[in-house]
Amino acid sequence: MAEANNTPYPYEAPVSQGLFDRASVVTPGGVNSPVRAFRAVGGTPRFMVSGTGPYLTDADGREYVDLVCSWGPMILGHSHPEVIAAVQEAVARGTSFGTPGEGEVALAEEIVARIEPVEQVRLVSSGTEATMSAIRLARGFTGRAKVIKFAGCYHGHVDALLAAAGSGVATFGLPDTPGVTGAQAGDTIVLPYNDIEAVRAAFAAHPGEIACVITEASPGNMGVVPPRDGFNAGLKEACRENGALYISDEVMTGFRTSKAGWFGVDGVVPDLMTFGKVMGGGFPAAAFGGRADVMAHLAPAGPVYQAGTLSGNPIATAAGLAQLRLLDDAAYATVDAVSEQLRTLVSDALTKEGVAHRVQNASNMFSVFFTDGEVRNYDDAKGQESFRFTPFFHSMLEQGVYLPPSAFESWFVSTAHDERAVERIAAALPAAARAAAEATA
Ligand code: PLP
Repeated sequence: MAEANNTPYPYEAPVSQGLFDRASVVTPGGVNSPVRAFRAVGGTPRFMVSGTGPYLTDADGREYVDLVCSWGPMILGHSHPEVIAAVQEAVARGTSFGTPGEGEVALAEEIVARIEPVEQVRLVSSGTEATMSAIRLARGFTGRAKVIKFAGCYHGHVDALLAAAGSGVATFGLPDTPGVTGAQAGDTIVLPYNDIEAVRAAFAAHPGEIACVITEASPGNMGVVPPRDGFNAGLKEACRENGALYISDEVMTGFRTSKAGWFGVDGVVPDLMTFGKVMGGGFPAAAFGGRADVMAHLAPAGPVYQAGTLSGNPIATAAGLAQLRLLDDAAYATVDAVSEQLRTLVSDALTKEGVAHRVQNASNMFSVFFTDGEVRNYDDAKGQESFRFTPFFHSMLEQGVYLPPSAFESWFVSTAHDERAVERIAAALPAAARAAAEATA
């Protein structure tokens, strides 16, 4: 690995730029997932070559304090020795068998033990697969077609769930991604987040037609916008009264916001839940699960088909299990404390420069909105002065702090974010806050 090269601002990234040029020839937009491109902030995406603890090193040999943590999974930091050892032990035994294996059973048992509402669980390879399958199961179980989702919530790139149309009451989702047909999106009802009256009105407008409500347990994909008191309980109640299933998407919050994810925080019992990110330890592993009577409808036990060549892959399950077993109360206390420290540091730096902002959090997940008021839904989030984020982001990047390249994403920390990492972030914040203050629309 190259020596850390912490050239001061302004900093070019010639090796990353060269790789991005090559990538752009063979891959659309040069990236394999759109959020990795710097489209919202401009500039060259950094191509990372290694990660250790709270740090990432890019192809130019420059080290960053990582506040993305692979978009959530790396809650123990990068290359945790015990996770790496579990992976090495597993890989030495083979990479995929296409048969059941004990690792899958152990990971499923760990999930069921941690999350009370999950009586049975099916392992898949991505969060998208988990939500797609949960929706299919809900439709198969209820014999109904319609799905309620909330504007600003992301559940992966499932056709029916990409609809994020206007925030009117009981708005029918229209396909706003080419390639999603009206038929695929036509059964999706998009509602404003945190608006329980809109949910009740949608149920009243479509009696006996709604299979499920799917919501992020605590949204992190429009920035961090926690549910207001009683909102999730209201969803559960509305579903129960109307014979629909309540699906809590914990792909982001699961095993992150507490040992039992967001369920461990608000205690509202969903019918189905979806998981990903942290439970894979940095490998492609995800899951959906919940009530045994609902899960019994899944093939081969029942008629709702769902499958996967690499589902329950032995290396992914070994990594996930190793990571989950390390996530005890002390680990969550550490992550929560680092998050709190950073939230204070960011807010103090922005206040000092007179920048209107609001730091919102859901346990240790947090994000910074450039606005004065509370952000309760997607419209509020879009109302922020996001032009201030771009110079803020680039100043942090140039000073060696890697933030999500968008004003609408959660920041993530890990148990590995120690005093030294926090000090580096603290040192970078004054200049970044100044850049945000000087930004013009
Ligand atoms: N659900 C939520 C809440 C997510 O945050 C994501 C991804 O960010 C997904 C589903 C999709 O997961 P994946 O990217 O693994 O398909």
